[in-house]
Amino acid sequence: MASQFISKDNSHIFQLISQGDNLRIVLEAITAWLESQIQDAIVSIMLYDKSNGVLNLVCGHEHFSPEYLEMLKEFPVQAQSGACGTAAFHKDLVISENLITDPKWKALRDILLTEKLTSCWSMPVISTDGDLYGTFATYYRTVRKPSNIEINLLERAAHLVSLAIDIDREREQKLLINEKYSSFFKYQPDAVFEVNLEGYIVSANVAFEKITGFLGNEIKGQYYFNFVPETSLETVKTAFEHSLKGESQHYELQAYHASGELLWLEITNLPIKHNKRIVGILVIAKDITAKNRYQERIRLLERAIQNSTHGVVIAHADADMPIVYVNAAFLAMTGYTESEIVGRNWRFLKGPDTDANTLKKIKNALITKTQLQVKIKNYRKDGSWFWNQLTLAPILDDLGHCTHFLGIQQDVTKEWVNEEYIEYQKTHDYLTGLFNRRAFDEYLEKTLKNIQPLKDLYLLYIDLDDFSPLNETLGHIVGDKLLQAVATRMKNFIRDKDMLSRISGDEFAIILLDFKTPDHVAEFAERLLKNLSTPFQIDGHKIHITASIGIAKNCSQIYQGIHLIQHAILSMQEAKKQGRNTWSWYQEKYNDLPKIDYINLRLDLSEALEKSQLNVFYQPLVQPKTGEVASLEALIRWIHPEKGFIPPDVFIPLAERTGHIVSIGRWVLQQACHDIFKLNKNRERPLSVSVNISPLEFHRTNFLNDLEEILNVSQFPPQLLKLEVTEGMLITDVQKSIEILHAIRALGIKVSLDDFGTGYSSLSYLRRLPVDQIKLDKSFFENFPIDQQDTAIVKLIIEIAHQLNLEVVAEGIEIYEQVKFLTEYECDMIQGYFYSKPVPINQLKL
Ligand code: C2E
Ligand code: CA
Ligand code: CA
Repeated sequence: MASQFISKDNSHIFQLISQGDNLRIVLEAITAWLESQIQDAIVSIMLYDKSNGVLNLVCGHEHFSPEYLEMLKEFPVQAQSGACGTAAFHKDLVISENLITDPKWKALRDILLTEKLTSCWSMPVISTDGDLYGTFATYYRTVRKPSNIEINLLERAAHLVSLAIDIDREREQKLLINEKYSSFFKYQPDAVFEVNLEGYIVSANVAFEKITGFLGNEIKGQYYFNFVPETSLETVKTAFEHSLKGESQHYELQAYHASGELLWLEITNLPIKHNKRIVGILVIAKDITAKNRYQERIRLLERAIQNSTHGVVIAHADADMPIVYVNAAFLAMTGYTESEIVGRNWRFLKGPDTDANTLKKIKNALITKTQLQVKIKNYRKDGSWFWNQLTLAPILDDLGHCTHFLGIQQDVTKEWVNEEYIEYQKTHDYLTGLFNRRAFDEYLEKTLKNIQPLKDLYLLYIDLDDFSPLNETLGHIVGDKLLQAVATRMKNFIRDKDMLSRISGDEFAIILLDFKTPDHVAEFAERLLKNLSTPFQIDGHKIHITASIGIAKNCSQIYQGIHLIQHAILSMQEAKKQGRNTWSWYQEKYNDLPKIDYINLRLDLSEALEKSQLNVFYQPLVQPKTGEVASLEALIRWIHPEKGFIPPDVFIPLAERTGHIVSIGRWVLQQACHDIFKLNKNRERPLSVSVNISPLEFHRTNFLNDLEEILNVSQFPPQLLKLEVTEGMLITDVQKSIEILHAIRALGIKVSLDDFGTGYSSLSYLRRLPVDQIKLDKSFFENFPIDQQDTAIVKLIIEIAHQLNLEVVAEGIEIYEQVKFLTEYECDMIQGYFYSKPVPINQLKL
């Protein structure tokens, strides 16, 4: 205890120590005090440098020579190292009575002699904790040994030194803490202020001014709670009370800024203790206004996204792009739950008929990290689909790297379906669902414009044969259904990329691209005809229908679609002329043909009869074996006053449509009966005559009456009259047709089945028909004798017909080889240019 060393003579030293005076001054006072107590003592104090393990002189320099002082510098602490080194080493008093003889001073003997030092007592200075502070030494110039009193004095001096050092160190420690505190106070970016026990602000740092906008001198002495609005007051007061009890507090509150705005602060209350008593509170306030605002914004955004009626999805931009977020609308739209989706790739929304092109676009946007808007067909969890209006956008980080993708989707099924429906109506035919004329024209125009120069485009114009009479007789409902069935069959027949359209009525058109050669197109047309030839089943009716196809190919002269269509129509008409149920290619020469102006022709037709522009020509039917003419076919001719010769193929179908055919047909019959009756008068063996009957006539209720009347009036023998009917007109209602045929035959009139082989005339069906003759269609002989198949069929038909007791006529025979062949195979009669063209009655060579 320091107190036991206090005496009158050293009390001034205690005063110096308690005043906190400089250590050097205190030590010098102690030195002076000891020198006054021990006679002739030369006092020195050395302090221990812990880091180097050496002693350094701090007091008593004035007693020694520079050489000696040099020697004392960084004096080693070790055994046998003078008095001080040894005392410090052993932390014990060392008394060297005679330095010259003392082995501890052996190394220093010379310098001691020059310094004239003889004796030395060294006392270690030890702290209260037992640490070495240094040494306290007294030198003498004579050999001396300390008395007990002197040892006690040395001990007291050493204790004083120890106390002075202890207190000095403590003070330094405090100073350091203080410095640390004030720099914390000063440089802390958060507001720091001290509040006294009453709640008044004592001091505040610079950051306080910065954060609150109040100046330091404005706030000092202010009541702390005044800065807090009503809403936060409770929090502040409670925290304050707790802090007064010594607890530190952490909380958030709102406080006023000098501008009147409210700040968000994160507060820490630290009680300030002094001598175990709370003397105030240190408040640290961190400005979290921006952070809170940001969080508030984030919260708002999240709410907005979560409650958006648009589906929102965020996916990671990493390898498989797992979904990281979906909102409620997305879940509602797709029917999935969040856990089923998060972590998965988005692609589960696509389905069997999601457009591959659109998917490609999306993929591309993901790769190139660009924004995209598409309409895509997506599938819900339950398999149902919806039209998704999708906006895809990359989310970039601060460095511009894409980290995520944002998808915003909207179910636009309703709008889209509506739009689609309107668009559909504009471009589609209401009856068949095929593209309409408008869409066809647009497509054709566009394709012609964009087509590469060397690429071919083929246009097929398809006109159903004998559709109008069929429509008349079976009614429009069945007619419509037939058109629908035809459309469906054609649609299934064509390839997806082909353009099929219903142009009008019973006319259709197809555009073909990517066909290698015209042969492939011809083969296509052929197959299409065959495909249509299978009978249709409509409302209990078995309907056979054929078509005529005109084919035109694009060429350098064609710039407009309409020209190509005209070409195809011309060739379609050519196909009709060729006997229907066939196809024909467009050829330049058609252009030279008079363009048929149907509208005017219609008007002209009604006058043709009255103005006697119609004529009947006759073509002989010859028995090949004898070369004798056995019969004649009546063929109508129309010589138009301006347009000249109009082929029956052109005006007969027109007359069927207009209904003129009834009067024309009756007139031909009358004329033929009349002409042949007259001709036969002069002949030994009377000739029979065949008259072509159109479907409309045939199905007329009055037809049989007319027939009877004509026979009566002309007195023409019924057995010499033959009516030529085609299969096409019988099949619409086979049963009824058979009845009519029976009635005709009951009148004694014969029936011939014309154009046999072009329709669907299966041979077995022939058995059921009450006919007397079949006329092999001229198409059989077109390629004669090249077409082996045709010749084989002809042979077979003749054979079977004979078995059924039917007479066989071959039509369109032009060359000798055909005649030879037919004679060989027992064909009964031959008709054709080989013998004669149709000629006026008076030019017949009989
Ligand atoms: P169809 O009943 O098949 O008449 C035969 C057609 O073949 C006739 O054509 C005739 O001129 C033609 N022909 C005859 N021999 C040959 C030949 O060796 N080579 C070629 N290339 N052709 C030959 P046409 O007179 O132009 O009559 C065409 C069609 O018009 C007829 O075909 C028939 O369906 C119809 N038709 C003609 N007159 C009448 C009629 O009075 N009433 C009705 N309803 N239709 C008629
Ligand atoms: Ca005929
Ligand atoms: Ca014929």
